[in-house]
Amino acid sequence: MSCDAVAAVVILVDGLGWVLAERTGLLRDLLPQRAPIRSVLGYSSAAFPALLTGLPPARTGQWLLFKRGGEPGSLAGLARLAGVAERWPRLEPALRRAAAGWAIHLRGWPAHFSTFAIPFPEMRHLAFADHVMGWAPAAINGTPTLFGHLRAAGITTHAFGYPTPDQRSLASAMRHIDAGHAGMYLLYLWQLDDTLHHCATDPLQMAGPLASYAAGLEQLYIRAQARFGNVPFAVISDHGMATVRGGVDVRSHLAAQPAFAAALPQAFYDSTMARFWLQSESDRAAVQEALSSVPHAQLLDESRLAAEGVLFRDGRFGELFLLMDEGWVINPSYYGAQLPAGMHGYDPDAPDSLATLLTNVEAALPTDLYGVHRFLLDIIAGMGRHAGTRRT
Ligand SMILES: [Zn+2]
Repeated sequence: MSCDAVAAVVILVDGLGWVLAERTGLLRDLLPQRAPIRSVLGYSSAAFPALLTGLPPARTGQWLLFKRGGEPGSLAGLARLAGVAERWPRLEPALRRAAAGWAIHLRGWPAHFSTFAIPFPEMRHLAFADHVMGWAPAAINGTPTLFGHLRAAGITTHAFGYPTPDQRSLASAMRHIDAGHAGMYLLYLWQLDDTLHHCATDPLQMAGPLASYAAGLEQLYIRAQARFGNVPFAVISDHGMATVRGGVDVRSHLAAQPAFAAALPQAFYDSTMARFWLQSESDRAAVQEALSSVPHAQLLDESRLAAEGVLFRDGRFGELFLLMDEGWVINPSYYGAQLPAGMHGYDPDAPDSLATLLTNVEAALPTDLYGVHRFLLDIIAGMGRHAGTRRT
């Protein structure tokens, strides 16, 4: 299929899980080669670099958005707002908006920083991890990405994605295809993830949005085949989405454990994962025991972290890790106080957390995101060479 292709289309749909794609039969007739894909432990901040470079977080250094403090990226300056927020609690929402604006516009942090409800006093200990964001980096920490490989191969790249709304990205790609622009089309559709967080997998609420994605993708497929013929076409995702069954107030639970309260480790509460830094190594056993009493959660030991490709010996992302069982969220967490309808960031083997690959390319299909990277490299290798590299 891909040996003499002058164009190829790859669409990354954020949050499109295997279960949802199969249940709705998304593009089943057009893309009959289909496989569940194991994601990477963590969130999109882990999945994107893995997909783009084919390497695990421990190799790229890119895992979670926040780490233990220190420059660059320190949040310590924002911690000074703690006193103001404590004195005038009504000002807190405005302070948060201002802090998010500063972080996003002046320091170039990703827009979803605005969704984090990290308590101001905790910011003293934290830093924004040096993270390559965006859809089209040529390299991540020296490793070439898919975009870098395309550039090196001299293949014209048509990239569309955040912050452009999904339907507009699809429409722009169609215009370029209709105009006969050959090359690799790489689309990042990011809005389905947001819809799923709010509506989860409620078939009634999801029917409209899913139908419009299916129609847009189908149009893109038909027009690409009509214009170029034999176009390799793949719909991929970074992770799945689980319906939230309930929340666990992990912070209150731990505060009620005397051993934990005495050790008082520094903590970061994400939606599905809590991580801790010990004040003293001698606290380890007592803190571990307190953590193992949290319901619907499991402690991740060192061998598990190593197996997931997320073992950082310097402890920058944490020294102890607690992962919620699929469908349970830490609530409240630094992701917010509201219980979301859908969430991701669980054990990558949990059924609703599986990502997906749907394609018309007849090849041995990959089983994980690193394999999807190699699968896409094969498509790139098989494409005809075209002068110049261009982003649109
Ligand atoms: Zn999400």
